[in-house]
Amino acid sequence: MIRMENVIKKYTMGEEEVYALAGVSMTVKEGEFVAIIGPSGSGKSTLMNIIGCLDAADSGIYSLNGTPIEHYSERELARLRSRQIGFIFQGFNLLPRLTALENVELPMVYQNIRTAEREKRAKEALERVGLGGRMNHKPGELSGGQQQRAAIARALATKPSLILADEPTGNLDSRTGREILSLFEEIHEAGNTIVLITHDAGVAARAQRQVKIQDGRIVGEEESHGNTILE
Ligand code: ADP
Ligand code: ADP
Repeated sequence: MIRMENVIKKYTMGEEEVYALAGVSMTVKEGEFVAIIGPSGSGKSTLMNIIGCLDAADSGIYSLNGTPIEHYSERELARLRSRQIGFIFQGFNLLPRLTALENVELPMVYQNIRTAEREKRAKEALERVGLGGRMNHKPGELSGGQQQRAAIARALATKPSLILADEPTGNLDSRTGREILSLFEEIHEAGNTIVLITHDAGVAARAQRQVKIQDGRIVGEEESHGNTILE
């Protein structure tokens, strides 16, 4: 599903070059639930932007579903993002004036999915995340955990090949965070591929496999339940 080979991304700050990613190689197979964990400044956001096709590497290979992304035009990349990747963010990124149902439908509006199908899929997704009784509420009328559930429903409804979550529990209290992580586990068990980015070891431990990043490099990899593959 995801293959990276020696991906380098650098930023120029005046005279200095900062290697946000200093040669990252990794793979994620279809159906895996992988956490990328690292401290602040380690390169997580940069890596997430590349995995999500929001930004391109300076060098190295990034291929998604077997095709190196440099083979796509900007337009094709936008299409790929909207069809293949379900984004979940720390801040939920719901539109405040729309109901939960309308928020979940929105990406499907951009995909030109017809109204009846859109509504059916949005309702199913909201039921699945336990928000069946809150579909007509706006984000301001939902708790943080409920807003994140709506965002998860929005990601699921488009049937993406990859779910990409950036600190999805970062704005939630720890109990609500654990509930959201249980939902990720359920979604994974149902066959979805998930990449979750976090600085929190407790969050990363809920994934099937952890990839540790520091100073733009992968410094370790561990399967859940403590089986170290590489250190
Ligand atoms: P993380 O998400 O783990 O905090 P980032 O990917 O945001 O890490 O940052 C990795 C490194 O790249 C840091 O040293 C950061 O300061 C630098 N960096 C990130 N984005 C930029 C940018 N737009 N301009 C300059 N430096 C950047
Ligand atoms: P943070 O968690 O760091 O506060 P977000 O996770 O909300 O920020 O956003 C991370 C990055 O993804 C930002 O650069 C933002 O511009 C971009 N982004 C936010 N929403 C979307 C979206 N719906 N689709 C694609 N990119 C987005």
